[in-house]
Amino acid sequence: MKDPDFFDAGDLVAVLTTQPLDRTLDYKAPEGGCWLGAFVEVPLGPRKVLGVVWGRGRGDWDIAKVRSVNRVLDVAPMRSEMRSFLEKAASYTLTSMPAMLRLATRAPGLSDPPSMRKVYRLGEGVPDRVTEARTRVIEALREYGGLGFTLKEVSELAGVTSSVVKGLVKQGVVLEEDTPRDQPYRRMDADFGPKELTEDQAAAAEKVSAGIKDEVYGTSLLRGVTGSGKTEVYLEAVAACIEAGRQALVLLPEIALTAEFLTRVEARFGAKPAEWHSGVTMTERRRIWKMVGQGGAQVVIGARSALFLPFQNLGLIVVDEEHDTSYKQDDGVLYNARDMAVLRASLCGARVVLASATPSLESWANADAGKYERIELTSRFGPAVLPDMRAIDMRVEDLPSAQWISPALQSAVRSRLEKGEQSLLFINRRGYAPVTICRACGHQVGCDHCDARMVEHRFLKRLLCHQCGESKPMPEACPSCGVEGKLAPVGPGVERLAEEAQAHFPEARLAVLSSDLFGSARALKEGITQIAEGGADIIIGTQLVAKGHNFPLLTLVGVIDADLGLQGSDMRAAERTFQLMRQVAGRAGRSERKGTALMQTFQPDHPVIRAILSGDEEGFWQAEADQRRHAGVPPYGRMAGIILSSPDVQQVFDIGNQLARNNGPLHEIGAQVFGPAPAPIARVRGRHRVRLLVKAEKSAPIQQALAQWVSQVKVRGDLRLSVDIDPQSFY
Ligand code: ADP
Ligand code: ZN
Repeated sequence: MKDPDFFDAGDLVAVLTTQPLDRTLDYKAPEGGCWLGAFVEVPLGPRKVLGVVWGRGRGDWDIAKVRSVNRVLDVAPMRSEMRSFLEKAASYTLTSMPAMLRLATRAPGLSDPPSMRKVYRLGEGVPDRVTEARTRVIEALREYGGLGFTLKEVSELAGVTSSVVKGLVKQGVVLEEDTPRDQPYRRMDADFGPKELTEDQAAAAEKVSAGIKDEVYGTSLLRGVTGSGKTEVYLEAVAACIEAGRQALVLLPEIALTAEFLTRVEARFGAKPAEWHSGVTMTERRRIWKMVGQGGAQVVIGARSALFLPFQNLGLIVVDEEHDTSYKQDDGVLYNARDMAVLRASLCGARVVLASATPSLESWANADAGKYERIELTSRFGPAVLPDMRAIDMRVEDLPSAQWISPALQSAVRSRLEKGEQSLLFINRRGYAPVTICRACGHQVGCDHCDARMVEHRFLKRLLCHQCGESKPMPEACPSCGVEGKLAPVGPGVERLAEEAQAHFPEARLAVLSSDLFGSARALKEGITQIAEGGADIIIGTQLVAKGHNFPLLTLVGVIDADLGLQGSDMRAAERTFQLMRQVAGRAGRSERKGTALMQTFQPDHPVIRAILSGDEEGFWQAEADQRRHAGVPPYGRMAGIILSSPDVQQVFDIGNQLARNNGPLHEIGAQVFGPAPAPIARVRGRHRVRLLVKAEKSAPIQQALAQWVSQVKVRGDLRLSVDIDPQSFY
């Protein structure tokens, strides 16, 4: 009998392409037929485009005009679970299918034939003349040459010019061979370098590995303070995957993808994992994509978009630092990688491990409701203990104006300097000063394209807009009143704080850790490694330092403005502040020495500050959950944000009002609409932004209603409309 998933030559097939069309297109299956899910190249007008065979043709086109698939690409067909993942993710996030397919094919050259390269290995021949250079080549190949090296690699290994190698090829001493350019990753060994686990860890490891072998879906929330061994525990689940012949994916926030982490994985499994993030070369991207699809990559460590790689037998997805806001894509397709990981795993019988010291309230609530299994690691591994946490009440500290390091914090830093230990001063603001004001007229220098104020970056000698990236040199005269020499910085940024610290401690070695002070992610990682090895006495850092780095000599963390996150209108402000403060405090005393965290605050009695200090996490979450439940907001209600933007301010308000008036589809499901209102940042890159907010009950079928509702407006010309389901930020 004919396989229902196979189409014979000439059969009508429906092809989903990466082109922005709202439907699949019919084609005739090519000579030799094709499988459902096959990656194909199809003609579209004068072009050739990438597509996937999505099903039987619809047959609603003039059959005489239906063209043939050009060819089937030499990659594994898309699995049915991947097709339903893309479909479900598209309908959840209200994204078009072509946009989803683009996410799933983000590697160059997928339609190119497999490309070959020349490699060199030792042959049987004997050289006519033995020179020292030739001997080095022969020895190098004898020692390392099993896999075959490129010409460049051989010459570098032997320290000779490429002509020496070529000369040996001519005599048959060295063989030149063609091999496919994309090579499998080295095999990993589950038993290569296991650690002996504590009792707690071993019990947790068993739970997070459950079901992997038997292909049973399940999600675990792995909670434990920084340093409790969460990574060790989930690496055991990775080991279970390797053992069962399944693939594992570990998602990390981009910045936490450090060499240190990769080395750790290599030490555990004896080979480097595949690594997927924005810094990976195009060739490496293609290699990972292809190898993941044909089983040549067992473990992938990656940033959020790795979720869309074509795994053949995915058994585990780890989402490390699951509360991290960078998992929510806020540009293009608006998805939350944490939620999509759960969806993807549920479709292929895989386990999900959400790891964090400070989980998101969403995950906490899911665990509370019994949907996720909750696993706790209660103590730190080894001698490290949680830092002592105390508030510095800024209402009683005596501090001159334009200074931010209180006398209490200064003396704590001084005592660390005397003992040769490190201190970290944390402020969540890049640049020198957040505001530049004219002392003659009171004007605050703003961005010409946005409603944001320009931030002075003294290191770069420029003013920068943190919204749109616009920058300009620091002006001499006030742009408003023209008076010279009256512009003054207001408030502290990380650079200004460094200046103050250096004035207090002229003998100390300072390091400033802020993303914009390093040219590249690599430079940043190197900087961090140097600091960890003792290259600085005082570290001044932004939230960069909160993420997973290990500073063994660090024993003091001073939080300059613990109140910063409590202002503003974001419903997640309290949660974010809580997480950030806990994480920063977790930097102190990770090794033998006990750490202290001091928080400067004007509101020592604020419930969030009190929860942080007392370490009563459960109390914090309960209180926060009650508040959100009461307000009917996520995770106890549904929300969606609509952002309309256009250079024409009248147009965005008109369309916004039109939507607000014609809210029938939302009314039907009992949802409320708020707005239109100017978005918190009302203008970005010259585009005016207006926001509507939709709030519904948890069980309401919000996507369908939203789709119907927004389809009432025609998105034309310069207008853009984006729908953000479960918005994380309200910008
Ligand atoms: P987390 O991911 O919770 O921050 P890690 O897994 O990174 O914690 O563990 C913290 C440190 O303790 C790491 O250097 C890790 O190698 C070490 N460690 C944790 N558990 C063990 C163990 N059972 N045996 C040896 N070292 C361990
Ligand atoms: Zn701007």
